[in-house]
Amino acid sequence: MIVEDEPKIAGLLEDYLSSRAGFRCRIVDRGDEVLERFRADPPALVLLDLMLPGLDGIEVCKRLRAESDVPIIMVTARTEEIDRLLGLELGADDYICKPFSPREVVARVKAVLRRTSNRKTSPPQDGLSMDRERFAASLNGQPLDLTPVEFALLEALQSRPGRVLSREQLLDYMYSDYRVVSDRAVDTHVKNLRKKLNAVAPELQTIESVYGLGYRFTPVSGTAGKTPT
Ligand code: CA
Repeated sequence: MIVEDEPKIAGLLEDYLSSRAGFRCRIVDRGDEVLERFRADPPALVLLDLMLPGLDGIEVCKRLRAESDVPIIMVTARTEEIDRLLGLELGADDYICKPFSPREVVARVKAVLRRTSNRKTSPPQDGLSMDRERFAASLNGQPLDLTPVEFALLEALQSRPGRVLSREQLLDYMYSDYRVVSDRAVDTHVKNLRKKLNAVAPELQTIESVYGLGYRFTPVSGTAGKTPT
């Protein structure tokens, strides 16, 4: 679903995504029509412009997220805007800045679809498997001895592969009550979690720090390129 009010851009995106990449596209040119069209026929991915008539992209993103885990790529006119959007924790999967090359958009759409393809079913992530009912996790078949907080942290990260989660978001997943915990606590738990993961797989770098923003999880098999030699 292409949500874009500028017909030229919408047409260009549709052209590249459909005729050249084989995706079936729908164009929605107003923010306030997205939800209804989405519910009527949920798309595999939403390409969402920020500035829209009717309802802006931020609000559209929030409403979509409130009822769906559909992959969302937000399109903004300014690079600076991306930091602000990340700060709002909208839960978008990627951000693209205008002007973009349509070819890049196609590549990003494919990458996001690849990354999120297992989101709905959430089977064990490659070598990492998590059993929520037993609060048990294992990596490459070896059980991990995690505290409940570490388990919640790992679960939050691995169920949202490729997404940057802020320390505040992670705290929400880690503690169900409203106790006052410093953001630093997240760093400490991440450090301990990495240690436990690395005790099983020494070269694994699956939890990445994103400077100034938070942490990102890369599925275990997706780390091959990052393994130090
Ligand atoms: Ca626009």
